[in-house]
Amino acid sequence: MQTMGEVRHDWTESEVRALFKLPFNDLLFRAQSIHRQHFDPNEVQVSTLLSIKTGSCPEDCKYCPQSAHYDTGLEKQRLMEVEAVLAKARQAKEAGSTRFCMGAAWKHPTERDMPYVLEMVKGVKEMGLETCMTLGMLKESQAQELAEAGLDYYNHNLDTSPEFYDKIITTRTYQDRLDTLGHVRDAGMKICSGGILGMGETAKDRIGLLRQLANLPQQPESVPINMLVKVEGTPLENVEDLDPLEFIRNIAVARIMMPKSHVRLSAGREQMSDELQAMAFFAGANSVFYGECLLTTPNPETHRDIQLFKRLGINMEQRIEASDAEQEQTINRDLQAQQDNALFYEAAN
Ligand code: SF4
Repeated sequence: MQTMGEVRHDWTESEVRALFKLPFNDLLFRAQSIHRQHFDPNEVQVSTLLSIKTGSCPEDCKYCPQSAHYDTGLEKQRLMEVEAVLAKARQAKEAGSTRFCMGAAWKHPTERDMPYVLEMVKGVKEMGLETCMTLGMLKESQAQELAEAGLDYYNHNLDTSPEFYDKIITTRTYQDRLDTLGHVRDAGMKICSGGILGMGETAKDRIGLLRQLANLPQQPESVPINMLVKVEGTPLENVEDLDPLEFIRNIAVARIMMPKSHVRLSAGREQMSDELQAMAFFAGANSVFYGECLLTTPNPETHRDIQLFKRLGINMEQRIEASDAEQEQTINRDLQAQQDNALFYEAAN
C-alpha cells in the first residue's frame, strides 16, 4: 500500500480495489489527509471554457451531443473568429478566471485550422491567462506548434477503461488517445485528462481508468472526473444512474492515486446537490469550471457556485484580489455576457 502522498506509477488492480473497498469514512479520511499534504484544502481552481467550434463532430462518442452520428438538436457553429475568442478570454480574465480553455469538436485539427488556433493561443497568452485547448487528436508536429505558440495545457480524456472503450467509441482507438497524450508531453505541455463515470461501465472499468491515468509516465496535472449527463438523442440517454456515493469514492481514490494533480469536477455538476459537491471537495476535488452552462450541458449558475463556496469557506485559487461584492459583480457581468452567447463547451474530448 502507498506511503501517504507519494506519487506512484505502478498501481495494481488489487491495490486500487482495496482502496475502493475501504469503509467510506476511512477512504475519505485518507484522501483528505493526502490532499492536505499538497494543496490548500480550502482552495478550488476555477477555469473558464469556451467552445470555439461546436457540433458536427465525425467521432461517435456515445455520450456526446456534438457527435454528427446522433440527432440531439444541438445548434452547430463553425470555427469562431480569432477576435471573438479573444473578446471572450478578456471577459473571463475580468471575472477572475486564471485559465482559459478553448474546445473544438474535431477528430483532429487540419492544417487549414492550425494558423487560427495558434493565433488564439498567442492572443490569450498575451493577456496573461493560462491557455488550454481540446481539439481532438494531435500529430507530433501540431503538438510542437501549439507548445511554441504558448499553449500550457492540452485536454484529451481517456474516457474509460481500455476494456470498455469500444462500447463507447469506435472511430478512434485507445492507443490513438495515448499517442496524442505522448505527443503533448513530448512537446513540453501539461496534460488535462480524465474520464466519464456512469456510462454503464463496471467497477472494474472505473479501476481500469484510474490505473491508466495514474500509471502514465507522468501523471496528468489536471484530472477531470465527469458524471455522465444523459442527453436525449445520444445512445446513453437511458443508461442506469451511478450511485452518487460511488462517484465520491472515485474522486477520493483519484486523489489518493494522483496526489499532486488537480482533480476536477466537470460535467454533471448541475445534477449534484450542494451536499454532494461539498463531499466531493472533501474527497479531494479541487477544480471546477464556471459559467452558466458547459455549452450543451447545464452547469450550476455561477451565482450558485459563489454561494456554495462561501458556505464552505472555499476560496478560488489565484483569484485576483477583490472583495466578495466585486467578485460577484464581475462574475455576474460575465454571466450576462455568456447568456448572450452561450458557447460553453463540455470538455469531454
Ligand atoms: S466527445 Fe469530442 S470527439 Fe467525441 S463526439 Fe464529442 S466533440 Fe467529438
